[in-house]
Amino acid sequence: MTSHSHDHDHDHSTLSEMDVRVRALEALLTQKGYIDPAGIDRIIETYENEVGPHNGAQVVAKAWAEPDFKAWLLQDATAAIASLGFTGRQGEHMVAVENTTDQHNMVVCTLCSCYPWPVLGLPPVWYKSAAYRSRAVLEPRKVLADFGVVLPESTHIRVWDSTAEVRYLVLPKRPAGTDNLSQTALAALVTRDAMIGTALI
Ligand code: FE
Repeated sequence: MTSHSHDHDHDHSTLSEMDVRVRALEALLTQKGYIDPAGIDRIIETYENEVGPHNGAQVVAKAWAEPDFKAWLLQDATAAIASLGFTGRQGEHMVAVENTTDQHNMVVCTLCSCYPWPVLGLPPVWYKSAAYRSRAVLEPRKVLADFGVVLPESTHIRVWDSTAEVRYLVLPKRPAGTDNLSQTALAALVTRDAMIGTALI
């Protein structure tokens, strides 16, 4: 949006067209009394600073370290995740999918940008892009290669399409040589993209 050639003569405001539209909409809704801008700022602040992939990383580390918790997570992710205090909007119905040698899992929302906020925070820009949303389903192996992830042909890639109802968390494979690490040290290895399925650990 900001880097295309200057072939037409728009003003060089730092706001993109979408930013301008969002601001106009927010101003209108505020003026009509439908929303409280301070409340919206609080929600954004919460999801930018307090909630984020560090929550999901704790879930993954605990699942790696405690077989009982892992079994619970795979059977009832919503409850297992809630037991760590991670609940709320966009996380009401969670499903955890485990990466194995046989199957790699990858999450997308083909419709829009559904994403498990309580464990991952706000979605990255690429997750919301039309290219990722369409290509993840059509050619997941190529999309993974774009992310630098190359899997053996024998590994099946399963793409999970998020909906307004169900949000997915990928349980990455535990890296070799981590047997002696504490859960805190394990959690530090877990990246956001690994929990979306577009990176390995
Ligand atoms: Fe969506």
